Amino acid sequence: MSSGLWHNRATVASTTLCTLLAIPYEPKVALCIAIGGLSAIFLTPDLDQPTLNRTENQLIKNSSLIMRIVGYIYVGFFSPYAYMFKHRSFWTHQPIIGTLGRLLYIALVLCIIRLAALPIDGLIYMWQNDLINWRYVIVGLIMLSINDTIHWIMDFIIQFK
Ligand SMILES: [Zn+2]
Repeated sequence: MSSGLWHNRATVASTTLCTLLAIPYEPKVALCIAIGGLSAIFLTPDLDQPTLNRTENQLIKNSSLIMRIVGYIYVGFFSPYAYMFKHRSFWTHQPIIGTLGRLLYIALVLCIIRLAALPIDGLIYMWQNDLINWRYVIVGLIMLSINDTIHWIMDFIIQFK
């Protein structure tokens, strides 16, 4: 039952390590690893908490009005997710399944509120015109999933405080 602070520290540490290891190989891959890995802070498995998680708290209690507005939108966006799933359930915390579930949730909510029309149209256009480098997308998603797996290990295996 690790705290959000330690989850975020582990996310930053693993992402930094993997990014530094990838830079000599290919800087674009390293950038995808950094983006995918750090997105675990905002797409944390703890979005299933009925109360505010660390990221939500930091946004809502921020001194900047813009950050507070972003925080309320973020909390509102993921509130149904928190109510749909029990905290630390199989569907939110299991490696790979939890990651894919959150990505599916985001896609579904964006479709429901129709804000996704432009991004989805843009993605379809990019896909049809072969403008998406799926290798980079997959690298970012793998890093996100690795950080979610570290989160799961900290919550259930070592129960790091
Ligand atoms: Zn957790």
